[in-house]
Amino acid sequence: MKQCYQTRVKTGWQDPDVDVEQARVYAIPMRTRFRGITVREGVVVPGPVGWGEFCPFSEYDDRESVSWLAAALEAADHGWPAPVRDRVPVNCTVPAVGPERAAAIVAGSGCRTAKVKVADHPDSAAEDVARVEAVRDALGPDGRVRVDANARWDVDTAVARIRQLDRAAGGLEYVEQPCPTVEELAAVRRRVDVRVAADESIRRAEDPMRVAVAGAADIAVIKCTPLGGVRRALRVAEACGLPCVVSSALETSVGLAAQVALAAALPELDFACGLGTLALFEGDLLPDGLRPVDGEIRVPQAPPVPDPELLAAAEPVDDRRRDWWLDRLRRVRALLAARGDALA
Ligand SMILES: [Mg+2]
Repeated sequence: MKQCYQTRVKTGWQDPDVDVEQARVYAIPMRTRFRGITVREGVVVPGPVGWGEFCPFSEYDDRESVSWLAAALEAADHGWPAPVRDRVPVNCTVPAVGPERAAAIVAGSGCRTAKVKVADHPDSAAEDVARVEAVRDALGPDGRVRVDANARWDVDTAVARIRQLDRAAGGLEYVEQPCPTVEELAAVRRRVDVRVAADESIRRAEDPMRVAVAGAADIAVIKCTPLGGVRRALRVAEACGLPCVVSSALETSVGLAAQVALAAALPELDFACGLGTLALFEGDLLPDGLRPVDGEIRVPQAPPVPDPELLAAAEPVDDRRRDWWLDRLRRVRALLAARGDALA
């Protein structure tokens, strides 16, 4: 298996030139609480090519945030590799809601693929089946239904529930992260016919290789932020040899554009991506944000430039939040400068 993701690349990130004076902090409320977040915060930074977004979740430490800054600087200073497609298909996401609401979400999305959250609580089996049946009815026979258990099952439970949900769906596209560990994913995969996708198991550049070597998944869910940018993510995707689904890290359109650029540059894209997340935000930094139309997002030509009025409107009310983000940006910049291309 190729180890090309370890290749040294000269990109200028060894001397990360972030103009902290020009960086702008944003705080945008979420329509619905997601991942425990009610207000999404981050920083956007300008560069010669465009703007990048630095928004590691608040529980991430500085060391983990280095790859997020590398991804932001790639956008601002270098832009992205040429796309091989001009539109990226996306899935709609159906949270743990009742069947009628599930059907309405799918019908209103325009998407041909639905990702259904399951395993929301230990006794969710009957609710999960009803939700998946409602989604299949709403999509029709040609749509694709995938389920995401967010690592909540043990192996035996996963095997039983996946078989049940596969019947309810009239065929599942795949099951995402049925169990917590790579070993459990591999055990489940040996016992079911449904494809297994690894999501939470992939958080660092080494992880997709580990998942692939362990035979733990048929599909890798990747994001350019923890992998250190679009170019590095492309090398990881190539090296692990698994089909990839690109997913957002809950960014504004500025950061989302990088994830879309990754999906647009993958040589093969067999599955709809999890990039329809702008619908979760009350606001955005672009007037024409990266929202799907008829289930597809149009690939941006270049890293976008945020709208000055929207930037001003998104400024945090509390100056302490602004200072917290700019301090974090300075610390992580120093770490990135110290590590240089050891990041690769
Ligand atoms: Mg997931």
